[in-house]
Amino acid sequence: MPAEEMAKLGQSQKPLLAYGDGIYVVDSEGRRLIDGPGGMWCTQIGYNRREIADALAEQALRLSYNSPWYTINSPASELAERVAKETPGDLNRVFFTTGGSTAVDTALRFSEYYNNVLGRPEKKQIIVRREGYHGSTSLTAACSGRAGNWPNFDIASERITFISSPRFRPAKGLSEAEFLDELVQEFEQTIERIGPEKVAVFLAEPLLASGGVIIPPKGYHARMKEVCERHDIIYVSDEVVTGFGRCGEWFASEAVFGVVPDIITFAKGVTSGYVPLGGLAISEQLLARVSGANAKGGFFTNGYTYSGHPVSCAAAIANMDVIEKDGILDHVRELAPYFAERLIELKTLPCVVDVRASGLVGCVECMLDPDADEPTALDKRLGSLIDKHCFELGLIVRPLGNMCVMSPPLVITREEVDTMVDILRQGIVLAT
Ligand code: PLP
Repeated sequence: MPAEEMAKLGQSQKPLLAYGDGIYVVDSEGRRLIDGPGGMWCTQIGYNRREIADALAEQALRLSYNSPWYTINSPASELAERVAKETPGDLNRVFFTTGGSTAVDTALRFSEYYNNVLGRPEKKQIIVRREGYHGSTSLTAACSGRAGNWPNFDIASERITFISSPRFRPAKGLSEAEFLDELVQEFEQTIERIGPEKVAVFLAEPLLASGGVIIPPKGYHARMKEVCERHDIIYVSDEVVTGFGRCGEWFASEAVFGVVPDIITFAKGVTSGYVPLGGLAISEQLLARVSGANAKGGFFTNGYTYSGHPVSCAAAIANMDVIEKDGILDHVRELAPYFAERLIELKTLPCVVDVRASGLVGCVECMLDPDADEPTALDKRLGSLIDKHCFELGLIVRPLGNMCVMSPPLVITREEVDTMVDILRQGIVLAT
C-alpha cells in the first residue's frame, strides 16, 4: 500500500455498532464481527446476557441512587464482601470508584493520606514502568509510560520516575534471569537516587496490557515487592485488565504472578463492561496504620458522587454470579494454552516478530522488516491496515501501532478462537 494511503489509516470513520451478541458485535450495516479486543479488555461474559439486564432493571427500580457520603446500599456492601473474598492476603478493605483511572488515582491519593498521617509528608514519589498504562486523569496519565499516548498534553511529572519496561528481548544477549537481576538492580538504584524516605509507591500492572501484553520475567513481581518492603513503599498492582478472569483467576497478582501487593485496583471486567465501575482493595494492615486511634483525627475519604453506585454494584454481583455459574475461570484456564498455541503459529508469517499471551489476552507484533531494531513509522500504521482487512473478514482487531492485541470475551469457544486467529492470519497476509 502506498505511504500516503497508509497515513490515512486510523483516521477513518469508526464503525457504528448496532448490537452485541455473545462474542460478536453487529454494525449498522449488519456486519457480524468477532469482538477481538473484548471492547477494551472488558466484555468478559459477552454481550446480551439477560442476567445482567435483569439485575440492572431490578436495582434501578428498587434503589437507583444513594449518596455514598452519608448512606450505604446493599449491593455495594455485598460486592465489597465478594471482592474481598477473592483478593489475595489481607486486601479486604474495598473502595469503589467510577472506573479504572479513578481507581488508580484513589490508590495514589491513599498513599498521600497514608504518608501524611504517618508524619512523613516528603514520602510522595511514585515509580512506574515505561510502556505501562494507568489511565486518563492528570496523575494516572502522567504515570503512563507510553510517550506516544499524550501528544500536546501537559504531563505533571515531578512526582513520577520511570524505570525500564520488563519486556525481555532475547536478542540483547542476556538470559532472562540476568535481565531480571538488572531490572531489580535498576529499581533499587532508582530508589537510592531519589532517597527511600521520599518514595511512596511502586505502581505496576501484572502484565503490561496496553504496552502490548508484556509479560515480565518469572519472579519479577515478588522480587520488586521484596524491595518495596525493605523501603516501606506501597506496592499497587493495577489489575484493571488482568482482574475478573482475564488470566483465569479473579485476580492475577498472586495466583498467576506470585505477588501479594498492598493494593489492587480493578475496573472493566468487574461488570463485563455493562455499566461503569471501578474500585480498589487495600491491605487491612496498611489501613490499620492510619485508621482509628492511629488516624490522628482524620479518616481516609475519597468519594465520587457515583462511588459504590447501587445499579453498577448490582450488575457486578450478577456478573460475578455468571462467571461462577458458567465456570468461566476454569474455561479460561483450559482454553488459554490453545489460544496461545494458535497465536504462536502466526510466527510462521515473515512479518510477525513476536507473539505474547497469558490467559485470554495476547499480542501479535508485526514489522515489515523483521530484522529492523525498532518499528518504523510505516510499521506503526500496520495494525490499522490489518484491522481494516480483518474488519472486512469479520473481526475487530485492537491495533496498537504495529501490535494486534487479542482480548476476546472470555466465553469464546475453541472453534471461535480458530475463526478469530484464521481471520487475523488472513488480515496480516493481506496487509503485508
Ligand atoms: N489501568 C489499566 C491497566 C488500564 O488498562 C486502564 C484502561 O485501559 C486503566 C487503568 C484506566 O481505566 P479506565 O479507562 O476505566 O479509566
